[in-house]
Amino acid sequence: MEKLFLPSFPKTCLNYQIPAKVENSPEVHPKSRKKTLSFTKRNEPIIIPDEQLEYLCRNGSLLEAEKALDSMFQQGSKVKRSTYLNLLESCIDSGSVHLGRILHSRFGLLPQPDVFLETKLLSMYAKCGCLVDARKVFDSMRERNLYTWSAMIGAYSREHRWKEVSKLFRLMMGDGVLPDDFLLPKILQGCANCGDVETGKLIHSVVIKLGMTSCLRVSNSILAVYAKCGELSLATKFFRRMEERDVVAWNSVLLAYCQNGKHEEAVELVEEMEKEGISPGLVTWNILIGGYNQLGKCDAAMDLMQKMESFGVTADVFTWTAMISGLIHNGKRYQALDTFRRMFLAGVVPNGVTIMSAVSACSCLKVLNLGSEVHSIAVKMGFMDDVLVGNSLVDMYSKCGKLEDARKVFDSVKNKDVYTWNSMITGYCHAEYCGKAYELFTRMQDANVKPNIITWNTMISGYIKNGDEGEAMDLFQRMEKDGKVQRNTASWNLIIAGYIQNGKKDEALELFRKMQFSRFTPNSVTILSLLPACANLLATKMVREIHGCVLRRNLDAVHAVKNALTDTYAKSGDIAYARTIFKGMETKDIITWNSLIGGYVLHGRYGPALDLFNQMKTQGIKPNRGTLSSIILAHGLMGNVDEGKKVFSSIADDYNIIPALEHCSAMISLYGRSNRLEEAVQFIQEMNVQSETPIWESFLTGCRIHGDIDLAIHAAEHLFSLEPENPITENVVSQIYALGAKLGRSLEGKKPRRDNLLKKPLGHSWIEVRNSIHTFTTGDKSQLCTDVLYPWVEKLCRLDDRNDQYNGELLIEEEGREETCGIHSEKFAMAFGLISSSRAHKTIRILKNLRMCRDCHNTAKYISRRYGCDILLEDTRCLHHFKNGDCSCKDYW
Ligand SMILES: [Zn+2]
Ligand SMILES: [Zn+2]
Repeated sequence: MEKLFLPSFPKTCLNYQIPAKVENSPEVHPKSRKKTLSFTKRNEPIIIPDEQLEYLCRNGSLLEAEKALDSMFQQGSKVKRSTYLNLLESCIDSGSVHLGRILHSRFGLLPQPDVFLETKLLSMYAKCGCLVDARKVFDSMRERNLYTWSAMIGAYSREHRWKEVSKLFRLMMGDGVLPDDFLLPKILQGCANCGDVETGKLIHSVVIKLGMTSCLRVSNSILAVYAKCGELSLATKFFRRMEERDVVAWNSVLLAYCQNGKHEEAVELVEEMEKEGISPGLVTWNILIGGYNQLGKCDAAMDLMQKMESFGVTADVFTWTAMISGLIHNGKRYQALDTFRRMFLAGVVPNGVTIMSAVSACSCLKVLNLGSEVHSIAVKMGFMDDVLVGNSLVDMYSKCGKLEDARKVFDSVKNKDVYTWNSMITGYCHAEYCGKAYELFTRMQDANVKPNIITWNTMISGYIKNGDEGEAMDLFQRMEKDGKVQRNTASWNLIIAGYIQNGKKDEALELFRKMQFSRFTPNSVTILSLLPACANLLATKMVREIHGCVLRRNLDAVHAVKNALTDTYAKSGDIAYARTIFKGMETKDIITWNSLIGGYVLHGRYGPALDLFNQMKTQGIKPNRGTLSSIILAHGLMGNVDEGKKVFSSIADDYNIIPALEHCSAMISLYGRSNRLEEAVQFIQEMNVQSETPIWESFLTGCRIHGDIDLAIHAAEHLFSLEPENPITENVVSQIYALGAKLGRSLEGKKPRRDNLLKKPLGHSWIEVRNSIHTFTTGDKSQLCTDVLYPWVEKLCRLDDRNDQYNGELLIEEEGREETCGIHSEKFAMAFGLISSSRAHKTIRILKNLRMCRDCHNTAKYISRRYGCDILLEDTRCLHHFKNGDCSCKDYW
């Protein structure tokens, strides 16, 4: 596009230093051709006239010419200046830097080397792509004229090294050489492209001094510098003072207006332009249309496209392409594809960018049929050699899950770049074919394409998706050392989230600590992936550490982070802190409210939960599924069945939500807590949720607590048929069967195998004391347990004079009885917590892998009363908060 807006100047300005033209040379004579042929057949060296040497070069027999030249130099012959120049010219034409270097080495043999010859030598190197050699020649020259400077500047601008261009200009001024009206636009182009407005201003003053302001080519270039560098006021001022303004000048200033977002002014300018008798050309329209599209005003751009037709200007491929990619960037992908179709109907031939845009629209929309249609168009029109087109097709097929088609295109792309490899690797990784992805990952390095940060990150996330975090970690380690690619925040986030996903929380937290010492600091993505891993009673300290990081990095400005903190503080047992964060939040969305309401319900505090629910409603916030299930649970805790039922019927009636499993489960718990088990059975039938395990688990809890063996058998039969392989279900169900048989009940369902009764799951408890986690097992035989904790627990049980009114016969527990299995792990943990902690009022936090038994529950209540401490114990069913001899679960868990 750049070409469209910058003033063009004749190509000859690059070639002015060529003295004699090829056509004038005498060597095209048929005679000389004969001579040459005879030369190639003869072996003995003869002195070759210059013209024959030149003839060899012209015909591409450079090897022969080289030999001839060598033998000439060996014999001490000198080459004519014109021959030498022509030879250099041949090297440029054929790109033979090898012969050029030989000529360079024999430079001293020339009768009289001069600045012109040296400049030619410099040009030869530059045009053969050897910029360093060209610069060496340049630096070694004692005398440099305008042509030398032009050649060197031309060389840098061909390589797009714009900063060097403007540097050279300053050196040239220091040398006292003044640029002409051919060189100036070239230097100005450099300034415009590297944003060097200062040099642009300097040139502007030079141009005034030289009296070159009337040269339109030069003026347009100055204007382009101001316009491209975003100096709108300078550009406008300059434009207004221009003696003559052609369409190029108008376009430059229009572009400046568009780039500064002043589209209305740009349109006014077009009207002014017409008044001056300059009709807006295709380029003018394209600038306007491109500008509007960039601003996201696709409709206005579309109107302009119609308007340009009414001006008799036909949209070209650039207009259409700008329109199509504008629509895609603004999410209007179907419209983009429709525009692509209309472009065809208008008979405009697409370019590579058009095809690529159309394919990328198809890939975002995952419309495979349209994508393959564009593919066949690309094949028919010969675009398959365009790497951009190839890359977009690989990406499209991968995203549509057609890996074989993607691979076919991938294999056909000739000059694969890093994007080609990345697209195919991403396709394999998404489909969890890590082996294939890794194969390409190695192959791309063999093909000398260096994996970039996206490649490494894609490979890491692929392995993590596959559950192979070892391999992912290996890549994570290697990327900086072997790959020489700096990790970025995304790399850290990927590996941290990966460990969490695969249940390796400790490793994830360790990496989080390391990340804080790395160049890349955690961002909200890191925090949001870490916090859910800390939603347990052992992670209180970690939550505080993460919270500290959030405050240091100002991440608390991110709403989702605060929501997650509220939720995690509640789940890690710190409901007061959750409330503090909640209170400090200026804006609260439904997730914020749900986090704290859910937190209170988790802690058995139905009062504050219901208060919050009312506050939320008065603030006009509509409850969602999550809120409503929490509220049913809260009514259950309160024992208010009627209110709970009202909330349940409001789900569909008032909030237009279809009740989900979580609501039904909450209802069962509501009925169960109030010992209305028959109603629960009725509810299960009405809601037709007989095939859901959580429903029966919740129901079984009710039967267990209220000792209803008949309904327990009913629940057990359902549970067993739903999950016969679950060891915990199996264990509980067999206990119920044993009880049923003992009581003479007739049993219908499949009975668990007798030998499975022996496989009781083993209980574990974890407690954190002074920054380290201690694990206890049921019946623990460690020295600490046998020597210290066991006597302590025994003494405590003797002191506890509770009289349990519960009918011991109906005990259905997940864990084996203490008489057979030994002291339960949480008793050891509680004892350890009390003994190790010195503070008067303390909170003991324990995590347990099975539902705690009634006896341990009673012991915990007793300890909390006798020692005046809080015990938070999270088992698989419930978070128990023991305080003053009561539990937040109200003995229902
Ligand atoms: Zn127990
Ligand atoms: Zn409890």
